[in-house]
Amino acid sequence: MDWGIETKCIYGDGVKFEGDKTGSISFPIYQTATFAHSAVGQDTGFAYSRLQNPTRQQLEQVVASLEGGIDALAFSTGMAAITALMELFRPGDHIITDSDLYGGSIRLFRSISQKNGITFSHIDCVRENVESFIQENTRAIFIETPTNPMMNVIDIRKMAETAKRHGLWLIVDNTFLSPYFQKPLTLGADIVIHSGTKFLGGHNDTLAGFLVTNSLELSEQLRFIIKTVGSGLAPFDSWLILRGIKTLPIRMERAQENAQAIAAFLQGESRVRKVYYPGIPGTQAHEICKRQASGFGSMITFEVESARLARHILKSTRLIPFAESLGGVETLLTYPTTQTHADVPVEVQRKNGITDCVLRMSVGIETKEDLIDDLKQAMDSFG
Ligand SMILES: *Cc1c(COP(=O)(O)O)cnc(C)c1O
Repeated sequence: MDWGIETKCIYGDGVKFEGDKTGSISFPIYQTATFAHSAVGQDTGFAYSRLQNPTRQQLEQVVASLEGGIDALAFSTGMAAITALMELFRPGDHIITDSDLYGGSIRLFRSISQKNGITFSHIDCVRENVESFIQENTRAIFIETPTNPMMNVIDIRKMAETAKRHGLWLIVDNTFLSPYFQKPLTLGADIVIHSGTKFLGGHNDTLAGFLVTNSLELSEQLRFIIKTVGSGLAPFDSWLILRGIKTLPIRMERAQENAQAIAAFLQGESRVRKVYYPGIPGTQAHEICKRQASGFGSMITFEVESARLARHILKSTRLIPFAESLGGVETLLTYPTTQTHADVPVEVQRKNGITDCVLRMSVGIETKEDLIDDLKQAMDSFG
């Protein structure tokens, strides 16, 4: 159905699940491993929860409708989703990735996929010519936009054109903006990834991951992989993410409003050297983001004048926890160089701009003045 995104966050595409006759408004949690058959060759559409479970199916239908995909698959974590995705490739295949990616993805590629015979070119998709890295065995381009943590914005339409011209898949990790602000499939991507742990779940209480596609062929291949490798999301966790998504639009709007205010505050602080936030006008990231997304999100990376100050802020905030993860109602501060990106080789970190002066903040939905006051007192108490 052609509903608005707020309605879709609650009802998906409106297809009713026929299995429940109680009228329950909240989708039931089918906490079962297996399903009975009435006779050989007859089933209810469900056989065993590793293959599919009604609660997971409902969640997948909602996420597919939000991204404009024909199918979405829910995994136990974002990394489980990306690991399953890598099963699409064979030894000898080559993948082009942006060098600024979530640290866990880089670790997977460097330590596991490479061992399995897949090779990578880690390039700068904003400043380098992607086409010149395409080889005979290249199968896909893998990007995040905005990138984690440096908030570079990659032109999805341009990447999709390049991918199409060479018969490659364009894979986009859309975790940072969520389908509320950005829908890569509608811009030409073939597969969208989410860490559902982040904005979709939204409450820092559940891990989940998604792969979404609008290709029937990819959907069939991924369905075979999820039932074979067995990393699908459990019924209760599916329900938690379903509940989180219902408020995605109002959370995204409020967090973005807070992020705009905090970015402006940080820009005015003399000990903050640089603020990376696509919502700040006058940058290439801002211009590209405006063309392909309906918002700038609530992730801010900023560089302070010294590593000592960065470490001081992390231990001096009273309201904002120093914790990994992002996309929840709670504002969190992280230190990419020792946390999310610790396994990224130091020379790659430095090349991308990740130094020991760089902090990343996921802005939540608290009262914005409280967040600013907290950052201010943490900076002002630095000797
Ligand atoms: C967190 C994250 C992941 C990994 O997701 P998990 O749910 O933590 O496994 C992947 N990509 C991005 C951009 C992330 O932020």
